Amino acid sequence: MNKKLFVLSGSSGVGKGTVLKGFLEKNPNFMLSISCTTRHPRPGEVDGVNYFFITKEEFKNCIENNKFLEWAEFAGNFYGTKKKYINQCLAEGKDIILEIDTQGALQVKKQMPEAILIFICPPSYEALENRLRGRHTEDEATIQKRLQQVKIELERAEKFDYKIVNDNLDDAIKNLEEVIKGEMQKC
Ligand code: 5GP
Repeated sequence: MNKKLFVLSGSSGVGKGTVLKGFLEKNPNFMLSISCTTRHPRPGEVDGVNYFFITKEEFKNCIENNKFLEWAEFAGNFYGTKKKYINQCLAEGKDIILEIDTQGALQVKKQMPEAILIFICPPSYEALENRLRGRHTEDEATIQKRLQQVKIELERAEKFDYKIVNDNLDDAIKNLEEVIKGEMQKC
């Protein structure tokens, strides 16, 4: 059976991680790709679970050795998806979800046009700003950088296959399930 690759993106602070977590708890047959990043772990984040936290030097080596399916610089840090994870998931017969930024999502679509891109939208720009500030994990300069990204990301979202508004968490999870179920029924 053909395995599917879903790519989930959204603006920082939109709560896409929470939506995805809710989806994965109900649908454990999906495998989440673990990305590499050069940013520092936030409190509670674990190496090899949330991300592989690597140095810029290591990241550069991976680029040079063509290890990434896609990679991007986001708010001063590097993030990338290793081809190895995608291949591992496929070998295990799992459907895959990548939670990556919009630049990476469009790179994946170029290489794998069958990939399904889903964008999680904030109910409004203000709601997004409040959410980003409310998590108290970034300093002001980082927040500003991330807000600048929002506009660019909303433009890129126009090229996505689906958009889901995260106004209410349960509804967003349900909508994500419906989108994914609908795609799984297509052959
Ligand atoms: P955060 O630092 O908040 O965990 O993630 C910042 C952004 O990087 C988010 O939009 C997240 O989806 C994105 N991201 C995480 N992993 C990857 C990846 O492997 N590739 C790309 N292109 N973006 C990623």
